Amino acid sequence: MLNTTSAHLLYSLTYPIAYNIVKSIIVAIDGTSSTGKSSIAKLLAQKIDYTYIDTGAMYRAVTLLALQNNVFHSDGSIDEPLLQELLKKARIVFCNNSETGHSDMYLNGENVEKQIRTMEVSSHVSPVAAISWVRDELVAQQRAMGKNGGIVMDGRDIGTVVFPEAEMKVFMTASPEIRAQRRFKELQEKGIPATYEEILQNVRERDYLDSHRAVSPLKQAHDAYLLDNSDMTFEQEMDILIKIFNEKVS
Ligand code: C5P
Repeated sequence: MLNTTSAHLLYSLTYPIAYNIVKSIIVAIDGTSSTGKSSIAKLLAQKIDYTYIDTGAMYRAVTLLALQNNVFHSDGSIDEPLLQELLKKARIVFCNNSETGHSDMYLNGENVEKQIRTMEVSSHVSPVAAISWVRDELVAQQRAMGKNGGIVMDGRDIGTVVFPEAEMKVFMTASPEIRAQRRFKELQEKGIPATYEEILQNVRERDYLDSHRAVSPLKQAHDAYLLDNSDMTFEQEMDILIKIFNEKVS
């Protein structure tokens, strides 16, 4: 029979563990460009009452900062000392947009949610994201944001590098043509100019650069669930994610 001391110990040991398992896991959603990770991750977070963190927006904000300050040389190379100086002083934060209720990206006090989705940023972001000190800086912030769990974080290296211990990992992909088509529709809806052809080329380029870089390349974690959504509806995808989530927390 347990005496009071050991009963107390059992209670205090089991309660936080059970609480962690039920309430505060880390959901890592990685995958190729324009797979719809952000849309599904955002909705999943709403449904399970978790915080959603779009890490791609952070790399995009650093890229916008670089473009605003002529950090790119004409040959495409990057003035890293200048970018480092700029990043030291920059404020890159997610803030709640009271009009939409969404968490938007702010760069130095300005809502840049629309600017970071332009083709100009999309075509410069992968080289910026390949710089190791940029990644060190952003990964540290991502770990701080997610350390208590209760988050759905999407990106390229969440399940492999940022949170290799994440309880739920999903790797999403689809054919480049389908992804480009979806991205084209999304940008049209947001009023951001781009053609289908340039989006398709950008999707292919980013897949290549993101998966071939030396630091934290895009790859499926060995324990991630592979979700190819080429022929799936949004609802089918969500059903799968909710099913995995319920398994992980039960
Ligand atoms: O997710 P999104 O397409 O907005 O990401 C933009 C770019 O940011 C990616 O193509 C990739 O180069 C970079 N990225 C990254 N690691 C992450 C998230 C995004 O390298 N965790």
